[in-house]
Amino acid sequence: MTSDEVLDRFKQSGALLEGHFVLSSGLPSSVYLQCAIALQETRDATEFGKALADHFRNQSIDTVAAPAIGGLVIGYEVARQLGVRFLWTEREHGVMTLRRGFSVRPEERILVVEDVITTGGSTRDTIDALRNAGAKVVAAASIIDRSGGAADVGVPRVSLATLNVAAVSPGECHACRRGETAIKPGSRKDNSPSLNDTQ
Ligand SMILES: [Zn+2]
Repeated sequence: MTSDEVLDRFKQSGALLEGHFVLSSGLPSSVYLQCAIALQETRDATEFGKALADHFRNQSIDTVAAPAIGGLVIGYEVARQLGVRFLWTEREHGVMTLRRGFSVRPEERILVVEDVITTGGSTRDTIDALRNAGAKVVAAASIIDRSGGAADVGVPRVSLATLNVAAVSPGECHACRRGETAIKPGSRKDNSPSLNDTQ
């Protein structure tokens, strides 16, 4: 899959919207991204998973690991296509941790997969948790890179598509200056749900 094909699929499914939005952080953005929408159709998830797995078929990956919740669907799909086991990390009191009885072997070769990398924080925290448990993290991957290629997670990293969307303050947003109202994606008039999981 080319980068354009990935982004077109995201646009078709409504996972990637262009316009004038206010994100959960309160900051304005010309792009709204919600990977969960892009992964609803299992056929799409399978294709994204294959495209990512193809990068790692000759790297003797033992296990794929993903930070919950965002990495679960695509991480599982990549692991399935590589024919290796899958586990996840999750935050406990803010610290990314291996829970649920998951364990790793010394020097186990692990690929960390996330849906979207923005700062790389979740992937880095997952890498730290796995290394602290004795594993060898050999690479990281995501469907989308929102950092414009800048996120450094300390291991080689692959993404299917890169977005270069600089964060702007409300004072810097041209649409805000023109007085245009920003949309909160996913919000409803009767009961606005939390936008904490939007990126
Ligand atoms: Zn604005």
